[in-house]
Amino acid sequence: MRLLSSKTGVRIGLVLIVAASIVWSIVGYADDTTDPIDYRCEFEGDCGLENGLSSPSDLAWDAEIDQWLVAKSNDQLWFPGKKTQEASIASKIGVTRPSVVLKQDAVAPRPKKVQKKDKNRWPRSVSIGKPNRGWLAYPVRLETSDRLTSRRHKNFGTQEMVQAIIDAVDAVHAEHPNTPILPVGNLSREHGGRFPPHKSHQSGRDADIGYYLSEGHSPTRLKLARTRTLDVPRTWTFIESLVADKKVEYIFSDRRLMRLLYRYALNVKKIPKERLHTIFQAPGGRPKIMRHLKGHADHLHVRFYAPDSVAAVTQFIAKHGNQALKPLPVYKRIKKGDSLWRLAKRHRVTVKKLRRWNRLRKDSNLRIGKKLIVGHKRPKIRLK
Ligand SMILES: [Zn+2]
Repeated sequence: MRLLSSKTGVRIGLVLIVAASIVWSIVGYADDTTDPIDYRCEFEGDCGLENGLSSPSDLAWDAEIDQWLVAKSNDQLWFPGKKTQEASIASKIGVTRPSVVLKQDAVAPRPKKVQKKDKNRWPRSVSIGKPNRGWLAYPVRLETSDRLTSRRHKNFGTQEMVQAIIDAVDAVHAEHPNTPILPVGNLSREHGGRFPPHKSHQSGRDADIGYYLSEGHSPTRLKLARTRTLDVPRTWTFIESLVADKKVEYIFSDRRLMRLLYRYALNVKKIPKERLHTIFQAPGGRPKIMRHLKGHADHLHVRFYAPDSVAAVTQFIAKHGNQALKPLPVYKRIKKGDSLWRLAKRHRVTVKKLRRWNRLRKDSNLRIGKKLIVGHKRPKIRLK
């Protein structure tokens, strides 16, 4: 009886393994094939009329979008979809509105380079830990210039990230005259660390960057980009510069805007589909650089690779040991009238944490004059 049941068990096990491998092969196969189909429907406007996935009006809209993108790339004006009042007036009097007059560039574009530092010499940016639990030493500040605005005290990052942003902005200016100032949102704080409400933005490798807009552009505010107001050519040039040379791990954007950027890259800039499929993620497809995430219609969230700054930590540990990165305790002397509860409140920690850090039992009394650990601070990274 026992033998039989163990045999049955083995059989069931085998059946399960076979079934799992069949499922795996089907899923794997599907995964290999779904991507191009998704691209066709999501970005290339071909969802298959016979399947009822798109209507003739969708196709007309797509055709109009393409015309619009071409017009935009020539800095002409095009009014897609429903005619605005402005458009109908313009067509009546037979003129196209001149493109919006934007802040003129400085006469000679100033080369703006972060000072290149010798890779093997300190100090250089040190990105420590994970972007959602880390910090930053030797940060570089992204300065406000006549091409971009950044936020005070919130504009620090690794040298690689700051340079990549400046290079991308310069690329836009090189290709498109009269480019407006780009609003840049939060990067990291000066020494990294927690930065609410963001979960990441802690280790100098994340940046919130506004879109270039053709209408209602603001040099300081991250404004909602709509399909009608997104400055597709400039935004694409910006993204193209970022994704070159594997500088960027991913970019969160909005699918409606991604569709426009994809079509512009494909139809106007004639970028091969194979290349675009390494940049744009189709819905449900495998992760690519540009991904849709809710809440990213007013900014791009860009996660940068920072190989030099990340490697700097390994080098630092090799030189100074792991201990050098451990948080340092902050001590406070107990005064008359202090209680754990009061101390906890004053230093914004919990009573439980105070007890743990100081190895206090529930019945232990506080002695006036004794030192207590009330928090921790980052160690100074000394490089000599
Ligand atoms: Zn962000």
